Amino acid sequence: MNDWQTNSESPERTEALAEKIGHNLKGGEVIELISDLGGGKTTFVRGLARGFGTTDRVASPTFTISKVYTQGERAIHHFDFYRLDQAGLMDHELADVLSDSRDTTVIEWGEVVSHILPKDRLSISFKKVDDEQRLITFAYPESLAYLMAGVI
Ligand code: ADP
Ligand code: MG
Repeated sequence: MNDWQTNSESPERTEALAEKIGHNLKGGEVIELISDLGGGKTTFVRGLARGFGTTDRVASPTFTISKVYTQGERAIHHFDFYRLDQAGLMDHELADVLSDSRDTTVIEWGEVVSHILPKDRLSISFKKVDDEQRLITFAYPESLAYLMAGVI
């Protein structure tokens, strides 16, 4: 596993960082976002989607649990399991998406589904330092190192 840490001083910086990663997506990646509420997970997805090239609007899928952003034939699936003790049927939906290697999957609050997430994933943790500062830690296997091109 590789580890890399950075400090983001604003939501714009977090989005810009995510945009670079979005630009590097080839399809099939699984990205897990870890933080407390307000850590910056959805902000990150907004930048990721921009770099990916979609014009679909990113919003927290907290009430719908999953959203899809498309760009041509490609898609990002955005899941948010906030406040779910059991993934229930969403467990199956996520498993289906994960088995389709053309798409990228991004997950907020993924503990409840950690047993179906692939071991090879990009895990990003956000720690609130203060109102505007976030310590962001990236953990990823060598097979996903290409996602960090232009970031590190
Ligand atoms: P989460 O999805 O983790 O609950 P959100 O992205 O929805 O978090 O919210 C993050 C909040 O923190 C937003 O209001 C955003 O403007 C604010 N914020 C302040 N500084 C940062 C930063 N450096 N990175 C990301 N978000 C930040
Ligand atoms: Mg969120």
